Amino acid sequence: MLAVGMIRGKPGVHTFELPVPELEQADEVLVRIKEVGLDGTDFNMVRYGIQDMAEGHPEMAMGHEVVGVVEAVGSGVKSLAPGDPVTMTVRRGCGICHPCLHNQSDMCMTGLYTERGIHKLNGFLTRFAVDREQYIVKVPPELVKLAVFTEPLSIAEKGIEQIRIIQSRFPWACQHQEHSLTARHWGGCKTALVVGAGPLGILATALLRLADAYTYTTDIVPEDHPKVHLVRDIGAKYIDARGKTPKEIVDLCCLPTGNLNMIFEASGAAETAVRLIPYMSRSSIYVMTGIPRGDLTIQLDAAELVRQLVRYNQVVVGSVNSNRNHFEMALKDLGEINSRFSGMLSEMITHRFSLEDYQPAFALQDPKHIKTVIEVEPWD
Ligand SMILES: [Zn+2]
Ligand SMILES: [Zn+2]
Repeated sequence: MLAVGMIRGKPGVHTFELPVPELEQADEVLVRIKEVGLDGTDFNMVRYGIQDMAEGHPEMAMGHEVVGVVEAVGSGVKSLAPGDPVTMTVRRGCGICHPCLHNQSDMCMTGLYTERGIHKLNGFLTRFAVDREQYIVKVPPELVKLAVFTEPLSIAEKGIEQIRIIQSRFPWACQHQEHSLTARHWGGCKTALVVGAGPLGILATALLRLADAYTYTTDIVPEDHPKVHLVRDIGAKYIDARGKTPKEIVDLCCLPTGNLNMIFEASGAAETAVRLIPYMSRSSIYVMTGIPRGDLTIQLDAAELVRQLVRYNQVVVGSVNSNRNHFEMALKDLGEINSRFSGMLSEMITHRFSLEDYQPAFALQDPKHIKTVIEVEPWD
């Protein structure tokens, strides 16, 4: 079958043939791929020539945001049947550490995990994939056309879950006892800043709005960019960061309540990410999810930084990948995002290509680009 991805020692993205995978274990499921979303990780792998195939393998299919349909199941599979629409998690645990042995491979302690389409395992830019039942999540039939967002939304879900868990230390973030940060709704008296209005930033903005936070989203695009329309349709305010200092950005966010309770970094711009730390509010939390490439040295006052983190009880936390729980949370929220901010998710898909058209999909230079979806096989 046709596959699109990396060939060892050959820069860029290519097609090659892979054997159609077969069911080998009782708990395995064969999935017919329908759609695959591309994200910054995929584009960066190509741009920076990051080739991370398993030893002894000359190629690796890319693609990790997937929706498909179950084609066949092994004899031990209980929760899935042929015809079920599904999505699949990305990381496969190391099989050694306790988090991986307990379905939390996103928190792997050994670093010996693999990831489909990213790190040593074939991804989903192909016709079929086989995996174990535990990594395959059933999609409600009414969400199949949006389910390509499950993986990126699961990353936002995990980041915001970190905020909820860590800030449960802080039940008096506002005067209303019922507005706990672990509650579904934050009562409209918490303020959040999302850095970066790419797909992840927009999805994080949507989740923060679902929780009723005053939400500001910042990027470096002009006000008439489609990203900005999306941000505003969700009920967030857009801040054009060009020509603004980090302090000016945070001051704008502090207007509604006097505090900025949380920052969600989704830009992967290392300097922007670090320059915001000195302007964090007291007792606030800063979640970083973007992964910068290359090297960058900047100067900052280390004594002041440590003083501030300590005196103000601040938390800066990294959040990577996601597990099955976050996929299930994402599938619950996809429906709500879609009905509350109607049409937002389909508007995010600015470009669609067939699998055979992978070259223009990866070479795209459109400044209005938000999300690319590869249609492996049309929905009938
Ligand atoms: Zn592990
Ligand atoms: Zn409140």
